[in-house]
Amino acid sequence: MPFAPPRSLSPSKVASFTSCPLAFRLSIIDRLPEAPSVPAVKGTVVHAALERLFSHFGRGERTRGVALGCLDEAMTAIGDDPEFVALGLDDAGRRAMADEAAILVGNYFELEDPNEVSPVGIEMGLEADIGDLRLRGIIDRLDRRPDGELVVVDYKTGRAPSARYEQARLSGVHIYALLVERVLGRFPAEVRLLHLRDPVVITATPSEQTVRGQRQRTSAVWSAIGRACEQEEFRPKPGPLCRFCSFRSMCPAFGGVPPELVAS
Ligand code: SF4
Repeated sequence: MPFAPPRSLSPSKVASFTSCPLAFRLSIIDRLPEAPSVPAVKGTVVHAALERLFSHFGRGERTRGVALGCLDEAMTAIGDDPEFVALGLDDAGRRAMADEAAILVGNYFELEDPNEVSPVGIEMGLEADIGDLRLRGIIDRLDRRPDGELVVVDYKTGRAPSARYEQARLSGVHIYALLVERVLGRFPAEVRLLHLRDPVVITATPSEQTVRGQRQRTSAVWSAIGRACEQEEFRPKPGPLCRFCSFRSMCPAFGGVPPELVAS
């Protein structure tokens, strides 16, 4: 095989290949750097703030004020991060990011009461073998409901998808359900996407059938990546994400030429 496929897949890699094989190749196989973006860094800060809220504070302590304090700490901690530094924000830009992140953290409280939540895992790394594929994922939060059932919670800081794209987004969460089933021996009763911007919750209810379907779809993506590596063919797939793509200048769909693939 001329080009080595990645050693493992994550939900984001599955989504990347499905959205555009060429962007997947340039990012995952060629490992070309992608331009940092304010929305991505802001999302990282908000995730860090909510992680702190649940890691350091127990039931009854998780108030909006405490969460905003966690956000301040997260903003300070990210100050040295290369992605943040590369944004080159001035004081006004930093303040704007902090203000927008504070709105997202405030919106979180519109979606659930964190004092009613019983997490059993926070930023929980899971991995499992599906045939010859190693599947990895990091779950923002895994909760146990009062009835003992598990709930996967994923925070989203971008806009909630329209009804047309909702099922595509839920494909990623079914991978989390598959991982939980493989690692913990039971699939979660719910997967909840908390869209902090809108704010709205999208809930999926996994079943044996959806988990089995996800296993088949993930294996199919893995096979397609193997074929693309073997045939050295990663086609561009223009779509709405092209507006945010770091590789437009080298994309044939926009008159560019991708670099030669280098065998590894
Ligand atoms: S610009 Fe669009 S089609 Fe081209 S690589 Fe990026 S996502 Fe794919």
